Amino acid sequence: MKLAVIGYPIRHSKSPFMHNIWMNELNIDGQYEAIEVSPDQLEQQIHFFKENNYTGFNVTIPHKENVIQHLDDIDEAAKDLGAVNTVLIKNGKCTGYNTDGNGFLQSLLTKRSEAEIRQARILILGAGGAAKGITGSLKSFGASQISIANRTSAKAVSLVDALGLTGEGMDLSKAQNQLQDYDIVINTTSVGMFPHIHQLPIDTSFMKKGALAADIIYNPLRTQFLLKAESAGADSLNGIGMFVFQGALAFEMWTSRKPEAAEMIIKITDKMKQE
Ligand code: NAP
Repeated sequence: MKLAVIGYPIRHSKSPFMHNIWMNELNIDGQYEAIEVSPDQLEQQIHFFKENNYTGFNVTIPHKENVIQHLDDIDEAAKDLGAVNTVLIKNGKCTGYNTDGNGFLQSLLTKRSEAEIRQARILILGAGGAAKGITGSLKSFGASQISIANRTSAKAVSLVDALGLTGEGMDLSKAQNQLQDYDIVINTTSVGMFPHIHQLPIDTSFMKKGALAADIIYNPLRTQFLLKAESAGADSLNGIGMFVFQGALAFEMWTSRKPEAAEMIIKITDKMKQE
């Protein structure tokens, strides 16, 4: 079985490490490789995958939106999102999916029960691609109280409207003032990502004790957003879980086998600590 991830750049991707271990563990004869593809090579690369009998591929920055025009079909949820991170090739046809939102949801379920998620007052920071997928998945799951805050507040307001959320769309300073009201606060912005590790989107040292701070960033493993939340007595969840579960959902689509995720979270965490 031939699988790959395409991006530009791609050399830091942990996807080959993860998928090759899973194939090994499940005795699947195959290989998952990372291929650097510039925007002008994208169409040609997809033809190559089709002609060379690849089973599928992952798509990362900057191709998540642009890949759609080169696919034969797209899943409804990915179409609404306007972004694809997983492609399945069957009978020479490419179908696009997006497993990011459900990957985050699976990760959240390692920290909170189904009922807790449905009843929680949830605040999402950011209104970009990842925020859209995560908010859509949380809403479909039955989370009933979701608000969104973004630097560009108009984007937060339109996302709240588009998804018909009961919460509000706001800017980051309003979210800062309301922080005590939320049970789960999710950072989907890129603020705090390596190398800008001292930055944070809002000051989580004002979070409610016992609430959960979830960051989808995983480099660094412990962002300022998470460290400050912990100092306030909040629980924390980093982005490794989302990364592993989005990959596990893609792997299942390609192989019809369910890979082991909990052990993989530990393996990738250890690998990141060594780098
Ligand atoms: P995106 O579509 O470019 O959205 C970026 C978001 O960050 C926007 O809401 C943007 O606000 C906000 N932002 C950027 N710089 C900011 C700043 N200086 N201050 C305040 N807000 C700022 O990106 P994305 O695809 O959603 O990805 C976002 C992050 O998620 C990245 O760090 C990515 O690595 C991570 N991610 C992780 C996983 C995983 O598996 N763990 C999966 C996907 C993505 P504006 O709208 O105001 O510009």
